[in-house]
Order: sequence, then structure tokens, then C-alpha cells
Amino acid sequence: MAIRKLRIKGDDILKKTSKEVKEITNAVITLLDDMKDTMVENQGVGLAAVQVGVLKRIFIIEEDEQVIEFINPVILEQTGEQTSTEGCLSVPNMSGDVTRPTYVKIEAQNRNGEKFVYEANDFYATVLCHENDHLDGQLYIDKATNIEGE
Ligand code: ZN
Repeated sequence: MAIRKLRIKGDDILKKTSKEVKEITNAVITLLDDMKDTMVENQGVGLAAVQVGVLKRIFIIEEDEQVIEFINPVILEQTGEQTSTEGCLSVPNMSGDVTRPTYVKIEAQNRNGEKFVYEANDFYATVLCHENDHLDGQLYIDKATNIEGE
């Protein structure tokens, strides 16, 4: 396990689309472990692989002190609308308001390759959408209003 270097706004890799994980290799397992260390070290609630420079469709979140790993996530359902203030480990010292669904249902694979369905509301619905956007090369500041910092 190791802490990896965070990619920061201005780094072109953050605008790139991540690729599907075809096989969960040892390198992917190490990446997941390192992402957890990196997220905890930086006190984040979510982290996408691209944020440590790996263009794979993987993100992790922390909910109730538990880390949940999403490999090849797909949003199956989303409803509602809420606006909340977001930040991002790749956009230090800034915040902005983004409108997102209040409920999302996501299907993904875990590190054993097993599919699971995950549902989230309110704050965690925002976190999931934020992380999922990273996989498509989008940062929250691309869609935020009332941006502060910079
Ligand atoms: Zn982010």
C-alpha cells in the first residue's frame, strides 16, 4: 500500500475519458489499495483512479468509515434534484455549487469481479455523481456556480 500523487486541475489527464477495466489484475488490486491510502491521507470522501493518473473506470468512496470500491460503474437510475457545495482533491482550495440528483442507483463490480447494485441518497448521491463524472473527464467546476477560491 502506498500513497499516490494526486493529479491537480490543469493536468490534461483529468479531462480524459477513463477506460473500462477488462480484467481485475494484481495491478488493479494494488491500485485500489493505494487509492484508499491516498483518499484517507487527503481526507477525501471519494477518489477516482484518474485522480492518481490511471485512466481506468474505477472510483472509491468512504461511507460510514467503510470504503466501497466501484469498478466499471454504470448509473442505472437517478431521480430528484438538489444543489450542494462541492470540493475536490484535484481542485484544492476551491468550492462551488452543483445541482445533482437526490437519489442514484449504480451497478458496478467489486474487486472480486462480482456485480453489485448500490443505492445512495442526498450527500452520497452527490459523491457518486461527482466521482462518476471524473471517469468521463469532467470536473465539478465545469458545471458549478458560485465558485469560490482560485
Ligand atoms: Zn473530484
